Amino acid sequence: MPYETVIGLEVHCELCTKSKIFCGCTTRFGGAPNTQVCPVCSGMPGALPVLNRAVVEYAIRAGLATNCNITRNNKFDRKNYFYPDLPKAYQISQLYYPICTEGWIALEGKRVRIREIHMEEDAGKLVHDPWEDATLADYNRCGVPLLEIVSQPDMRSAAEAVEYIEKLKAILEYTGVSDCKMQEGSLRADVNLSVRPVGQKEFGTRTEMKNLNSLRAIARAIEAETARQIELIEDGGRVTQETRRWDDDRGETYAMRSKEDAQDYKYFPEPDLPPIEISEEQINALRASLPELPEAKKRRYREELGLPEYDTGIIAGSVPLVRLFERTCAICGDAKEAANWVMGEVLRLLQATQTLPEHMAFEPDALGRLILLTQKNVINRGTAKKVFAEVFRSNVDPEAYVKEHNLGLVTDDSAIRAVIADVLKQNEKAVDEWNRGKVQAMQFLIGQCMKALRGQAPAEKVSSLLRAMMGGDLQ
Ligand code: ADP
Ligand code: MG
Ligand code: ZN
Repeated sequence: MPYETVIGLEVHCELCTKSKIFCGCTTRFGGAPNTQVCPVCSGMPGALPVLNRAVVEYAIRAGLATNCNITRNNKFDRKNYFYPDLPKAYQISQLYYPICTEGWIALEGKRVRIREIHMEEDAGKLVHDPWEDATLADYNRCGVPLLEIVSQPDMRSAAEAVEYIEKLKAILEYTGVSDCKMQEGSLRADVNLSVRPVGQKEFGTRTEMKNLNSLRAIARAIEAETARQIELIEDGGRVTQETRRWDDDRGETYAMRSKEDAQDYKYFPEPDLPPIEISEEQINALRASLPELPEAKKRRYREELGLPEYDTGIIAGSVPLVRLFERTCAICGDAKEAANWVMGEVLRLLQATQTLPEHMAFEPDALGRLILLTQKNVINRGTAKKVFAEVFRSNVDPEAYVKEHNLGLVTDDSAIRAVIADVLKQNEKAVDEWNRGKVQAMQFLIGQCMKALRGQAPAEKVSSLLRAMMGGDLQ
């Protein structure tokens, strides 16, 4: 029987605010363990939280950028559970009145609805290595602000789930809400998945796979869990609602715990924080401050700059590529050329060196300036590619590098003539053949001249000077 996969995602993203959600501690990643904590975020008795205003603004920006309604009167709730990396033994979150509701994100050809976005605090981290018999707790991450973005079960394949996350990630990056570094855990997804026979209206029972932190893992986990559920049902079994862990090395999911319900957490309104009131003016001001969003940018690249659909998707989908592309256009004034370079050499080198776009380390002006050198005929394309490889690798200055390595095109006629004269002297046989009417000899001689000039002269110029010097009117 053919089955359909049904997927809903809960995406957690850490906000780029400087300080934590309820105290002044820094949110910086990678500090020495327990150096970024205070009585509030380490759960000391009697310490009281104070809401960081920026968190509310970031949440509203995320909500507006994903077409949500903003809940003008919202509040926090207390979610009770004990976990060693949660020193308060409860998490401050939003259950009853999340700050954003009922939005959507456009994929190619469909919309995925967002049920809600709520604000909450992150937990700390447990460190199990390198001791066999001990687990250590690092509370630096406790209280780092999070948004949880909950979709409706609108996705039907791994490809759609990946596309949804890519689109969401671009929006969060564009709006400066989160840096979305999946490898550092600042964007992670819980995948809820069920299967049903094609044509059946009701959803099947779902499982939830928690904290997946790469697109590859998400796609593989979806494939594996879909296959597991179908097999289970085909064998006459039933899917149990539970939380499963994805083991990326083994390529399997395994049961972690049976799924808890909201009542298991004994949620109640957070008594230590007042409700949040958001004015219409505040919402309008934040709406007005939103940057051009990915979909609009894509459209503009296509309609105004005439870029191909495929290129617009790749470039507009990544903030670092957008920055590089727009800076390059501003410098060289040729959007098509700038896009060709980004889609060509930049992507090629990123791929070849397994570098993420956000880790490109070269001066953002360098590419535009390099293109200028080709436009002014200072260097040719082949040389430009070689120079760019150096720019990419070690951030060299294009002009200085060209000068230092003497890579500029020889454009001075007399200099080229001198080289040609030399080549003719050394290739009397070919000259002879040419004089006897053998047409191919000319190609050979042009080749020899270009070689002598190390490719650093405009080929058309070399060819016309050569012809002139040997009575080229023969041809
Ligand atoms: P919980 O609060 O227990 O996490 P929710 O009902 O809030 O559960 O749903 C969490 C996520 O699970 C949402 O993203 C939702 O779209 C998704 N979901 C709900 N039911 C299903 C289902 N039958 N199949 C797949 N995903 C589902
Ligand atoms: Mg959940
Ligand atoms: Zn603190």
